[in-house]
Amino acid sequence: MTKSNPFEIAQKQLDDCAKILNLDPGVHEFLRHPRREFHVSIPVRMDDGSIKIFQGYRVQYNDALGPCKGGIRYHPDETIDTVRALAAWMTWKTSLLGLPLGGGKGGVICNPKELSTGEQERLCRGYVDMVWQNIGPERDVPAPDVYTTPQMMAWMMDEYSKLTGSNNFGCITGKPLCVGGSCGRSDATARGGMYALREAARELGIDLSRATIAIQGYGNAGSYAHSLAKELFGSKVVAVSDSKGGAFNPAGIEPAEASSIKAETCTVASIPDAKRISNEELLELNVDILIAAALENVITKENAGNIKAKIILELANGPTTPEADEILFNNKVHVIPDFLANAGGVTVSYFEMVQNIMRYCWSFEEVYQRLDERMTMAYQGVLAASRQYNINMRQAAYTVAVARVVDAMKTRGWV
Ligand code: NAD
Repeated sequence: MTKSNPFEIAQKQLDDCAKILNLDPGVHEFLRHPRREFHVSIPVRMDDGSIKIFQGYRVQYNDALGPCKGGIRYHPDETIDTVRALAAWMTWKTSLLGLPLGGGKGGVICNPKELSTGEQERLCRGYVDMVWQNIGPERDVPAPDVYTTPQMMAWMMDEYSKLTGSNNFGCITGKPLCVGGSCGRSDATARGGMYALREAARELGIDLSRATIAIQGYGNAGSYAHSLAKELFGSKVVAVSDSKGGAFNPAGIEPAEASSIKAETCTVASIPDAKRISNEELLELNVDILIAAALENVITKENAGNIKAKIILELANGPTTPEADEILFNNKVHVIPDFLANAGGVTVSYFEMVQNIMRYCWSFEEVYQRLDERMTMAYQGVLAASRQYNINMRQAAYTVAVARVVDAMKTRGWV
């Protein structure tokens, strides 16, 4: 298995779960592959008058529990296997959170930083033109992901609405508030992660008001995790990093300071009074909690044995390889696995769909309370399964999520 192919990792994780659940081989094989994939070529008129063709994907991994749900990534290195892996993880994530949704994901090979605003808009509308007959509130509901924004979701919703001849706000989530977005969506991933972290800390007897935290990645997930860890628990974040490197200050780093330095210098590595450290060093710091909020495959069999944190909160998708998982479990490091830890985003996206369809507008407080209930219930369900089978938290999350999907497939008569 090449460690860089996320879909092979997603399949390996499912294979482990199939053994624990003693899944029927046919059912297991069905779950190893997406049910449906769309590969599209999107023609876009560029500002210089030329036409450029962009390759796009939409993968509908499994919709036994309801319409598919999952983001659209714009990335120059996008591959169909990355989209497949992310769609599989979305299937397990929506199931784990008890949402009436399946899992999907989309992507376009492009670098949005090299596109003008007009070109971005035409690409977004072009993507919807190619897939609109196969998405929508009853089929598949996209959302933002890496390098796609609320504005892009607004253009996509508008294109879908024009094509279907109705104001169809529920066809896509992560929209700006003025066109059917939900309160609490922007920090939902980090906030959901904090609720899971609170449960884990309670379980392990860690006082979060005295805990130290290191955060790898300082984008949407990592920066909100920093401010929320301080706001909700009073924890001390001693190290932060981004693609350019990290900063470590045992006295603590303030969220406002990290954000303003990042805005000024494009990196948190240059925080004054902090020691510059590498991303590799950050992972191995002597802290209570490590938050992985950057990329996949950063915790491997090479460094897992050196990790000193008691809890790892995986806000990123796929930061830990299967070999590293085993080492961490043996070393009694409590991992809150990605599709539980970062499920706050899709949960509030689901709330956004519900509000759109029912024409409700919930307050921040209502959203936070409902998110807390869902995350706490999911965390406790995973913890109970991990104890029941004496397996790690990722395997436990898989058993809960996969069993629900299998139950729905059987009940519907698919298998
Ligand atoms: P983002 O693009 O806003 O931020 C990514 C951050 O990671 C940036 O600070 C970047 O500099 C940093 N980074 C990139 N390469 C790095 C490296 N080699 N070492 C250290 N840092 C590096 O992305 P995001 O939305 O915060 O997403 C981060 C992770 O969380 C991704 O795996 C994403 O799939 C996952 N996630 C995000 C959400 C969400 O709602 N934002 C939801 C679920 C999962």
